[in-house]
Amino acid sequence: MPAAGVGSEPRSLEVRRAWPVMGTLLEVAAEHADPGLALAAVRSARAAVEAVDSLMSNYRPDSEISRLNASAGSARPTPISAWTADVLRAALAWGDTSGGAFDVTLGPVVDAWGFYRERGAVPEEAVLDSVARLAGQGGLAVGARAARLERAGMRVDLGAIAKGFAVDRALEVLARAGVVRAMVDLGGSVAVLGDPPAGVAWPIGIRDPRHAERVAAVLHLPPGSATATSGDYERFFEVDGVRYAHIIDPRTNRPARGVASVSVIAPSALEADVLSTTLYLLGPARGACLLADRHGTAALWFLDDGGGGPAVGADLPALVAGAAAAAFEPAGESPGDSGVGRAERNPRAYTRARCDTEG
Ligand code: AMP
Ligand code: MG
Repeated sequence: MPAAGVGSEPRSLEVRRAWPVMGTLLEVAAEHADPGLALAAVRSARAAVEAVDSLMSNYRPDSEISRLNASAGSARPTPISAWTADVLRAALAWGDTSGGAFDVTLGPVVDAWGFYRERGAVPEEAVLDSVARLAGQGGLAVGARAARLERAGMRVDLGAIAKGFAVDRALEVLARAGVVRAMVDLGGSVAVLGDPPAGVAWPIGIRDPRHAERVAAVLHLPPGSATATSGDYERFFEVDGVRYAHIIDPRTNRPARGVASVSVIAPSALEADVLSTTLYLLGPARGACLLADRHGTAALWFLDDGGGGPAVGADLPALVAGAAAAAFEPAGESPGDSGVGRAERNPRAYTRARCDTEG
C-alpha cells in the first residue's frame, strides 16, 4: 500500500509501473488499444513527476524552491518556471481561502520541529518564537516568472501541494497521449482518468490511521477527480506519549491536534492535496464550512479520539451518481472496532447554516 495509506486498485489496467520519487512511491497505470503507446505514456507521466520534483523539492539544493529559499532577504527576485509560479500562486490563493490555515511559508517552523530531519524534537519556546517571525505569506511575492522572499531565513515548503500538482501534470500527459483510462498514485495523492475498470467509480481503499494493514473505508472516486490523504502517521515523533505530527497550526506554530487522518475528494489532485492538509488542521466542523458549496469536494475524517466518520461536501451525491448516496462506505465488518472512524452514511452532516453559527 502506498505511503500515505491509500490503496488503489487499477490492477486490471494493462500497463502498470512503479518508481520511488518525491520521497514516496509513484504508481502509474494506463490502458490503450496499443500497449506500446500505453507504456510510453506511463513513462512520460513519470518524467512529468520527476520534473516537478526537480523544480520544487526542498531536499534538492538545485531546485527552484531551494534557490528561492537560499536567496531569501535579497533584493533580487529568483527566476522560476511557469510551473513553480503556478504552484506558488495557487498556494497563496489557498492561504487566503483557508483564512491562513494553509501557509507554505511555514518552512522555518516545520524545520524547527525537525520534520525534515531524522529525528524530531519539541523546540524551545524562544526558538519557536523566533522562527515564527519568519513565517507569513505576506513576505512571499510571486510574479509570472520570478519570486522573492522578503526576509533572510524565510523558507517556502511545498510539501503539502507539490505532490498534487505533480499528479495533475502526470494525468495531463496520459490524457494527451490518448489513453482510455489511467490512474496515477503518488503516495496517496491519486487521480483517475476515464471510466473505472468496473462500476461507475474507482474504488480507493482508505487506510486505518491506527492500523496500517487495515482498510478502514472505501472511497468511490468519480472519473476525472482526485483524492489525497493527510495523516498523523505519515511523519511524526512521540515524546512522553504525545504524538507530534508534521502539519503545523499557524496560530500556535505547533503540530495540529485532534485529527488522525482526513481523506479528500476534489476535482484536481492539487486541490485534494491542499484540502487534505487544510482540513486536517481545521477538523470536521470548521473544515466542512470550507467544503460547503465547493463543487465536487468531499472529506472523510478519522479523529484522534477514536470518533469520526464521513462529512461530505454539498454536491457529492450528484457527482457519484448511482455509486452511493455517500461517497464513503465502511469496509468489511466494522471499522469501528479499530477504535477510529465509525463510518455512518451521513452525506450532509454539515451545512452552511451550521457554519454560519460557528463563524
Ligand atoms: P500533506 O502530507 O500533504 O498534508 O503535507 C504535509 C506537509 O506540508 C508537511 O510535512 C510540511 O512540509 C507542510 N506543512 C505543514 N504544515 C503546513 C501548513 N499549515 N500549511 C501548508 N503546509 C504545511
Ligand atoms: Mg496536502
